[in-house]
Amino acid sequence: YLFPEAPGISPLPAFDDQLPAFIDGKSGRTLTRAELRSLALRLAAAMRAIGGAEAPGVACIWGFNSLEWVVAAYACMAAGVTLSPANAGYTPSELAHQINDSGAELVFLAPSHIAMFDEARPLLKRSFPPERVVILAESADAPYKTMYDILPQGEFTAQRFDRADAQATAWLCYSSGTTGLPKGVMTSHFNITSQIQAGNIGFQRMRPGDAVIAFIPYSHIYGAVIGLLQPISQGSAVVVLPRFEEVPVLQAIERFKVTLGLFVPPVFIVLLNSPHVRKYDLSSLKTIMSGAAPLSAELLQAFTALIPQCRIIQAYGMTETSPNIANMHRGISVGREYSVGRLLPGFQARLVKDDGEDADTTRGEAGELWVRGPCVMKGYHNNPAATDATIAPGGWLKTGDVVTRDAEGWLSVVDRKKELIKYKGFQVAPAEMEGLLIQHDDVLDVGVVGVYDPKQATELVRAYLVLKGDNKESVAEQVAAWVAQRAARAKHLSGGIVVVDAIPKSPSGKILRKLLRERAKADADPVVAMP
Ligand code: ATP
Ligand code: MG
Repeated sequence: YLFPEAPGISPLPAFDDQLPAFIDGKSGRTLTRAELRSLALRLAAAMRAIGGAEAPGVACIWGFNSLEWVVAAYACMAAGVTLSPANAGYTPSELAHQINDSGAELVFLAPSHIAMFDEARPLLKRSFPPERVVILAESADAPYKTMYDILPQGEFTAQRFDRADAQATAWLCYSSGTTGLPKGVMTSHFNITSQIQAGNIGFQRMRPGDAVIAFIPYSHIYGAVIGLLQPISQGSAVVVLPRFEEVPVLQAIERFKVTLGLFVPPVFIVLLNSPHVRKYDLSSLKTIMSGAAPLSAELLQAFTALIPQCRIIQAYGMTETSPNIANMHRGISVGREYSVGRLLPGFQARLVKDDGEDADTTRGEAGELWVRGPCVMKGYHNNPAATDATIAPGGWLKTGDVVTRDAEGWLSVVDRKKELIKYKGFQVAPAEMEGLLIQHDDVLDVGVVGVYDPKQATELVRAYLVLKGDNKESVAEQVAAWVAQRAARAKHLSGGIVVVDAIPKSPSGKILRKLLRERAKADADPVVAMP
């Protein structure tokens, strides 16, 4: 297909050309595999023709998921143009940072994002004349042309890739920016093919006849590899939605008999509290993958009770590892719901303690997870210092995540190294606290951060809570007392509770603790239940 046959990796199977490849989850419009290939190869030819010797080396795609988005992505891969997809929720200045940093010379733009792109123009290093802006729609106003306007007639065949091409940067996604500025992650064709092959051995396996629902953003590596590339390599169809919206997602699952859902944790919260969820036939769902952020056992169990025939299984990974490092395995993961699974084939791992020694896993010690293998990125784009700080000699990528491993190799993510709260010398993992708090009946959602108290010269543990019920202040006090009964002193909510309407989250479902910490610093919130 459009994938290179990466060295050391068996070729991907061939499938019937008339099978559906991508289906628009709202209109039902379908691209067969043959149509996708033809459109992508023609668009690839059009891209190579742009600018002659100045042909683009990097293209940016900006907009919510759509069939046109998908065609543009496959066209980039076929043309050997590096694809740098930008988060559809970015502001014009965030977009400008990515376009300038990635060196993109061509932009594919959803119609909804044209005005914001024009706003970003003064911040861009390049001028982007109209022929370097291609609109992802059926029609567009002058001066721009659509993707369909520039397609050459005729049929084109895929170029063969050789070994060197397999190492070229296929995707340049930007990490979520949870812990700092987003970084451009160089993912090669070989990285992607390796991830697909490894994933097909574990839970991530897909088959012809499967229908995968993809509303998670294609600009994020999870959506890109698991929701755009892998299904096609396995003959599965993908139902595409622009974003998560309760009713359209439920309708699409029923209408297209979706078998595999790609979720992020906030989606479970919304659906569990949705009055609509029981109105739709969700019996086709066999598996739901939850990735990008921790899913509590509580949420997992509540959702399993709602859709009993469906297995909900975590996957764990990061942009730098294309993305999954570990996932659950069909059949043998029952009872391991606390875990994020076992290492995918091809990965090697170490758990490294702060003193540089390997953790003693027989004693349950945790350490920072270091991994190496064929899915590990080439490095950060134009940032050798960050690359050197992240990839240790020997090719070990430092994940920044604190992880434990049991005797059978099941991994659990304790928290992010950078986000551990230090209370009077004790380490408190916010993720663990969030997992506890969500079990309280009155807690709908939660984010935990450390707030620095100069008087005691320590960080304190503060919870931001979305609560049920009316008398929120007294509920918050009950929650604080409830935690005090269940957790060691260091984990009590010494920084108090702040009641909020929503927890700030990234499009991939990560709690933006950075924003909560800023709120805490600004000191503008009424804090209740400070013990
Ligand atoms: P940045 O590196 O720019 O600060 P980020 O690390 O959030 O942002 P991503 O690559 O999108 O960007 O996310 C990877 C991180 O997400 C992992 O390092 C891990 O902390 C977290 N993560 C992913 N999946 C899981 C999971 N199943 N359970 C717990 N944490 C997860
Ligand atoms: Mg990261």
